[in-house]
Amino acid sequence: MAQIIDGKKISSDVKMMVAKEAKALTQKGINICLAVVIVGDDPASRVYVNSKKKACELVGFESREFALDKNTTEQELLNLVDKLNADDTVNGILVQLPLPKQIDENKIIERISPLKDVDAFHASNVGKIMIGDYNFLPCTPSGCMDLIKSTGVKITGKNAVVVGRSNIVGKPMAMLLLHESATVTICHSKTKDLAKACKEADILVAAVGVPKLIKGDMIKEGAVVIDVGMNRLEDGKLCGDVDFESAKEVAGYITPVPGGVGPMTIATLMRNTLTAAKIQNGITE
Ligand code: NDP
Repeated sequence: MAQIIDGKKISSDVKMMVAKEAKALTQKGINICLAVVIVGDDPASRVYVNSKKKACELVGFESREFALDKNTTEQELLNLVDKLNADDTVNGILVQLPLPKQIDENKIIERISPLKDVDAFHASNVGKIMIGDYNFLPCTPSGCMDLIKSTGVKITGKNAVVVGRSNIVGKPMAMLLLHESATVTICHSKTKDLAKACKEADILVAAVGVPKLIKGDMIKEGAVVIDVGMNRLEDGKLCGDVDFESAKEVAGYITPVPGGVGPMTIATLMRNTLTAAKIQNGITE
């Protein structure tokens, strides 16, 4: 029976550490501010934005929300990003994705100052991650690495399999595992034999968006299983990309959904915002 990786507890420890540092900065007269931009009224985006605002409050950051109408034009959003880039009282900028169809997400991401890009989605931050010399790591993969490390399982030399190759989760996740000297395989919708690939994994990260795709019989005995998936079922319940019930019988360690990767993503966002504020204020330690 797998040990459950407690994302709530680990994320709470990260937030406590951030809160402590934020307090020390406040005492030096440095207040930390995250600007959160939401366009439209997507209920899931609203939930994420509210959680991020709540986390800011908890760690002692100011969160400044910009809630824009769903018909906002690309130019209007670019103008807002320019304003936030130029505002010295804003340390981090988060534009909640997805954006409405009339707005090109890439254009918006590329307009955010790389120094305020606390999601680490800007091409220059992505490039820095590739070469292993970065200020920020994307929140979800970075949180996943913390969860893997919390198990005490050594990553070096292990077979790691990432299912999913999105720019925000799968690809950077694979890169971070590679930086830690895992032998990494990336699977996607065209992978011929997903079950066979997964079964080789000492560390398995599922970031697919298909409820319960990964079953227990696809998992290697004792593997570390990280479930990034957040799928809303018809009954309103949240479920992951891993079939938790069958997987926990085989895995060595497993993250639950909810209570695994989700809280870590938000804690990492807080850590990135703290890092941004320190860099902008010339604090290097
Ligand atoms: P995307 O839709 O951008 O990417 C999904 C990936 O899964 C694609 O690479 C796709 O392959 C692959 N895929 C789809 N179906 C299959 C299949 N049957 N077999 C193998 N691979 C498949 O999703 P995201 O990366 O943005 O998110 C993935 C999941 O993680 C979602 O459930 C999302 O809600 C969740 N998420 C959770 C976060 C958290 O904080 N917990 C944060 C971000 C995301 P291809 O490229 O070939 O199309």
